[in-house]
Amino acid sequence: MATLADVLGTRTREGDVYERLDRDWVRCHACGHDCSIPPGAVGVCKVRFNDNGTLRVPWGYVAGVQCDPIEKKPFFHAWPGALAYSIGMLGCDLHCSYCQNWVTSQALRDPAAVAPPRDTDPADLARDAIRQGARVVVSTYNEPLITVEWGVAVFQAARSLGLATGFVSNGNATPQVLDYLAPWIDVYKVDLKSFNDQQYRKLGGRLAPILDTIRSLHARGIWVEIVTLLISGFNDSDAEVTRLTEFIASVSRDIPWHVTAFHKDYRMQDPADTSAAQLARAAAIGQAAGLHYVYAGNLPGRVGTLEHTYCMSCHASLIERYGYHIGAYRLTPDGKCGQCHAALPGRWDDHFCGQIASHPFLPHDRARLRMI
Ligand code: SF4
Repeated sequence: MATLADVLGTRTREGDVYERLDRDWVRCHACGHDCSIPPGAVGVCKVRFNDNGTLRVPWGYVAGVQCDPIEKKPFFHAWPGALAYSIGMLGCDLHCSYCQNWVTSQALRDPAAVAPPRDTDPADLARDAIRQGARVVVSTYNEPLITVEWGVAVFQAARSLGLATGFVSNGNATPQVLDYLAPWIDVYKVDLKSFNDQQYRKLGGRLAPILDTIRSLHARGIWVEIVTLLISGFNDSDAEVTRLTEFIASVSRDIPWHVTAFHKDYRMQDPADTSAAQLARAAAIGQAAGLHYVYAGNLPGRVGTLEHTYCMSCHASLIERYGYHIGAYRLTPDGKCGQCHAALPGRWDDHFCGQIASHPFLPHDRARLRMI
């Protein structure tokens, strides 16, 4: 019987983000691991492999498709209320023990992680996004950097139909992959999981490439929002939260920082679920570090004003939220405060288009999405 690796191995094409080395080795630059791969071997992510001197990469399928409110990604400063047509493939370059998308991200690494691939193509996905009423197509659920060639192909199709594009990523990128991706992406969410390199190594990564990615994305003019899942005993000390938020502020005080509540998931069952008081404490540290837009997530209705957006100039309430639901929207058509006319950093439409749904749903009429 064919294994999942066999099934995925046939759904590939030659990659773009790699170089050929001597003796048919290749070096992949799609993520910060920069794997040098001998013939017949796979990279750390297990989904990119060396086939006789050619790097083969995932292509032609999705393992998950869902329509999410953009607030779920979360993006709070990009087209509030918009529908984000969210697609994912399989695999990840990290192995976080608390992953909330482990069924797709840990495929090929954990035998319990199984999500069947369904064949499709970029044009069909883009057309389906339009049919659902989406404003943006987002590559998410697995780590999109390791499937970047497919992501760019879908984004090119999406852009041709007037859609915006985004990544929900761990940020473990390289200059080469950002050069490849930058022309096709509008918004990028980075999970900044810790400010401690030792903790990052437990997850299978390093801190430095993630910090470089955040600096590089901002310098390239791509809209960036950052999320930190606050976990007791892992990343929640005042000293670490201070260093983390001071770093973000050093890049730009206008980058929104979402500090979100951990709940027991996958293999991490020991830390207690994060409380609203812990989120409020971390948020206060972020504000003291100079960040203009700090949000507390995953505990709707329990974090006071930390779900809302306020004008940094006159403190007027601009966008009110409850979880993913937009309760009020008071921006002018050019993205400014309606009271004092200070600009709110982000990506805005010239009017609030309403909210199609404040909860995720599967695409309607899925039969029309060609799944071979
Ligand atoms: S995507 Fe990352 S982990 Fe996978 S082969 Fe490339 S460099 Fe290695």
